[in-house]
Amino acid sequence: MIKPLNIFSVVLLVCGTWVGPGFAERKPNVIVILADDLGFADVGFHGCKDIPTPHLDRLAASGVRCTNGYVSHSFCSPTRAGLMTGRYQQRFGHENNPAHEPDNLSLGLPVDETLLPKAIKPAGYVSGIIGKWHLGAAPPFHPLARGFDEQYGFTGGGHQYFAKQLIDRDSHYRSHIERNGKREPTTGYLTTLFSEEAAAFITRHKDDPFFLYLAYNAPHTPLQAPPEYIERCKHIDDDKRRVYGAMVCALDDGVGLVLDTLNKLDLDDDTLIFFLSDNGGPDTVTHASNAPLRGRKGQVYEGGIHVPFVVRWTGKLPAGAVYEQPVSSLDIFVTTLALTGAPAPPKPLDGVNLMPYLLGQAKGAPHERLFWRQGGGQAYAVREGVDKYLHIRGHDPEFYQLDSDLAEHHNVITSQADAADALQRKLDAWNSQLIDPLWQNPRAGKPKNANKAK
Ligand code: CA
Repeated sequence: MIKPLNIFSVVLLVCGTWVGPGFAERKPNVIVILADDLGFADVGFHGCKDIPTPHLDRLAASGVRCTNGYVSHSFCSPTRAGLMTGRYQQRFGHENNPAHEPDNLSLGLPVDETLLPKAIKPAGYVSGIIGKWHLGAAPPFHPLARGFDEQYGFTGGGHQYFAKQLIDRDSHYRSHIERNGKREPTTGYLTTLFSEEAAAFITRHKDDPFFLYLAYNAPHTPLQAPPEYIERCKHIDDDKRRVYGAMVCALDDGVGLVLDTLNKLDLDDDTLIFFLSDNGGPDTVTHASNAPLRGRKGQVYEGGIHVPFVVRWTGKLPAGAVYEQPVSSLDIFVTTLALTGAPAPPKPLDGVNLMPYLLGQAKGAPHERLFWRQGGGQAYAVREGVDKYLHIRGHDPEFYQLDSDLAEHHNVITSQADAADALQRKLDAWNSQLIDPLWQNPRAGKPKNANKAK
């Protein structure tokens, strides 16, 4: 099982201690399981009562639950751009969703950015993506052109879930499912297919150090689930939430299959797993729940950006632990890079290696502050410690203290004017480093962050 290692490039953990470089263990596998539009409150480990998520709860119980886990954007594609680069996506103009235009060479994650699978390739990793891409549909943006060795899924931002609907219309949500860029006939329920493909990938590469990006489109719309999953949520009276819950159950089963596959292959100790959602739940659409957070997908309130976030590495990270300092989806890149020992790409990274923090060796917060910007400046937010300042265009600025007001009900900007001014200046400084969005959201005229500020 032990693979030949480059002793100059390996960083590893021994007996819970961050050391490196070393040369005693195989390089860890890394799996990122990304849910799509999963509500903050819709997992058992956040107290969900009506949707059973035993496997996600098992994952959380065997790893570290990051109770202040954030994504770098409140909707799909920009979050994924940040995750894949470890950089605030507004630095390179990826601030909106790209339309699904397979012939458009200007709609996709800019090709001069280095993506995680490419960055870790020199360390000997094989990388696979299963599921949703949403970082450009034209050939230069395809996962296989960005460092992935294997692909199964689709390049758009969402998809019909049943095989009979996966017909060749070359339209968004009905595009062919691809394997390694080639169309492949498909049968079954998409979420289950992705889970089975993930298990197959892990099995196929059990002797390799691998990176698996399992990017479910569930439980994003359209609300579609097989009868056996609907049955599990038959106690839910609300029609939309019943189907949404069934979709979460299918995703949960997939997480269970991944965990069981790792265990069967004796890879638990060799595999770091991240689980998170790409943004908050669109509660008004799918009847997801972000309780107790305010707001939803598309907003810079907590409900849009504060997500379920678990990190597990059996035998290395503590099991059943809670980590409360804010962490970001941007950290996945840097943490992975450090573990693999691959050199950093040339452009500055915004993420942080979380491992010393999760092990309790590094004190304080991984980030001095976290920033958000949407729509080229339609909405901003910054969190520093427990303080959060946000400003939505057309509305007065807001300031919340999240330790006592996680639900952002009490705007204390008047009594905290100096602190708010200080955060505004830091936000301005960060904003000055960004560029304008390279494209607009496909649905022009419906800005994602035109939210209820009052
Ligand atoms: Ca999403």
